[in-house]
Amino acid sequence: MKDWNEKCAVVGIYNAHNASILSYYALFAMQHRGQEASGISAANGEKIFTHKNNGLVTKVFDEPTLKKLQGIASIGHNRYSTAGEDSIDDCQPIFAKYSLGELAIVHNGNLTNAKKVRKGLIDEGAIFQSHLDTENLIHLIAKSHKSQLVDRITDALGKIEGAYALVFLSRTKMFAVRDRYGLRPLSLGKITNPDGSIGYIVASETCAFDLIGAEYIRDVNPGEMLVFEGAYSKHIPIPKSIKIFEPNPKPCIFEYVYFARPDSKVFGRNVYEIRKQMGIELAKEHNIQADMVIPVPDSGVAAAIGFSKQSGVPFELGIIRNHYVGRTFIEPTQTARELKVKLKLNPIAELIADKEIIVIDDSIVRGTTSKQIIKILKQAGAKKIHLFISSPPTISPCYYGVDTPEKSQLICANHTLEEVREFIGADSLAFLSLEGLKKSIQSSDDEAFCQACFDGNYITIPQE
Ligand code: SF4
Repeated sequence: MKDWNEKCAVVGIYNAHNASILSYYALFAMQHRGQEASGISAANGEKIFTHKNNGLVTKVFDEPTLKKLQGIASIGHNRYSTAGEDSIDDCQPIFAKYSLGELAIVHNGNLTNAKKVRKGLIDEGAIFQSHLDTENLIHLIAKSHKSQLVDRITDALGKIEGAYALVFLSRTKMFAVRDRYGLRPLSLGKITNPDGSIGYIVASETCAFDLIGAEYIRDVNPGEMLVFEGAYSKHIPIPKSIKIFEPNPKPCIFEYVYFARPDSKVFGRNVYEIRKQMGIELAKEHNIQADMVIPVPDSGVAAAIGFSKQSGVPFELGIIRNHYVGRTFIEPTQTARELKVKLKLNPIAELIADKEIIVIDDSIVRGTTSKQIIKILKQAGAKKIHLFISSPPTISPCYYGVDTPEKSQLICANHTLEEVREFIGADSLAFLSLEGLKKSIQSSDDEAFCQACFDGNYITIPQE
């Protein structure tokens, strides 16, 4: 899928040698979660240093820059713009000086009462520097009368609603929090420093742990805050757990469908295994034979392998993806989208000419990308094309930190299955059921997920 983008990636490193370099590698591993901007703040016990800019991680940082980000604690962020604009002011971390010292924050998610809170703060005289909903937190923390930062953060969190995986960095401490629903992922890992001392990492995805050799411990629980302190004393810093809210877990089911890297463990489960199982369930629900099954790379690969395994239809890599596509220099119109598909995906004509093929993709959003894929496959000579989707139809936008089109733009929200099939030009079209998706995750009866983009049942909706 190409029109549904994860908001961001966050990372926090505590008590580790070269903390900013570890943040850099963690952000590099999580580049797929946001490519518009990147930033790191580091704390050395006395001061917080920040560098951020628009662009990919490798463009924003070089060695001299990272060397200036001194300290054994750091936080970082990759941004895919949603609540904010494209200016440098809207890059994270957000940094501020306030009565207790210095503070930097990174946020993955979307605050549903952000407008209301911001209006209240402005009415009371606050001045904002960015369009970010996260900036509300800085003001709420600064305004709190509590004497300890941990209590000020707790105070501020009591006034915000919506989805958040947040990491706060002070000059000596770090705090990691997930909202009560656990909508966005955040995992905790252990770092063993070269001298044998122990440090910690929190990150949106565990693929960040693998790159820096960290060991997965567990997820930060919904409604939980982890407090990291003691790095500047002789004590071994062990994260302290504080229950901020009564948990009501409803993690985002779409992480399994599309956002997360298949080598990550998200909400405690490996993403690749789940996607493969989604293909198996899809084949169980829609029994069909053809000459071959091919994935739309990369997001459809694991499900296509599962589909092939279950159905016995041979798996082929019939479409090759160019991973090096940069910006296209035309206006964002339908034509631009067509060009984008062609720049990215190219079918192997010799393989698919005169063949009946099953194409597996992870989802359909506007339908324009699927239409283009069918078009290029037909141009390459495919005889018959069945488009099978390894998730249910997406019928509602996301309010929790994922960049989705309006409902009016979601083709499955406004058209029947047959109308969608006709629009995209496939010979047949099928989706995995919601039950099939949950079976793939092996969720127990009492385990709930946010699945609002599939069923329209929102946990909380934006307030004006
Ligand atoms: S609405 Fe969809 S994308 Fe958004 S959090 Fe819920 S499941 Fe995830």
